Amino acid sequence: MLSAQPDTKPKGCAGCNRKIKDRYLLKALDKYWHEDCLKCACCDCRLGEVGSTLYTKANLILCRRDYLRLFGVTGNCAACSKLIPAFEMVMRAKDNVYHLDCFACQLCNQRFCVGDKFFLKNNMILCQTDYEEGLMKEGYASQVR
Ligand SMILES: [Zn+2]
Ligand SMILES: [Zn+2]
Ligand SMILES: [Zn+2]
Ligand SMILES: [Zn+2]
Repeated sequence: MLSAQPDTKPKGCAGCNRKIKDRYLLKALDKYWHEDCLKCACCDCRLGEVGSTLYTKANLILCRRDYLRLFGVTGNCAACSKLIPAFEMVMRAKDNVYHLDCFACQLCNQRFCVGDKFFLKNNMILCQTDYEEGLMKEGYASQVR
């Protein structure tokens, strides 16, 4: 090896711990990375491209989209009121967040698909059928089922 001088010593990649011999090493977060090793911990998209922004939290490196998805919206599920862990996918309706599993009509348990309409009434998620029925029947919410 000719390149034995301290200055040109290969840097260790912070991602895979191997030496970086590539010509394009990346520097991020005061560490060096292979181009392929600097990627989002969630979706695996590469973050080494020019202009991309990376976010870190709890030792994770994330792209902007995943960062916002994971850490931007956590809170208590509006349906079961349990805490939603930072890594869980959530559904959102107005200011409410829901576990994926909890996001269903709270009267008939119908799940919603993309494009389906849902309604919020008294902070309950309702499918269209139940919502429209509720408009017609007063006091349906306290009905015994
Ligand atoms: Zn690496
Ligand atoms: Zn990502
Ligand atoms: Zn829930
Ligand atoms: Zn329903």
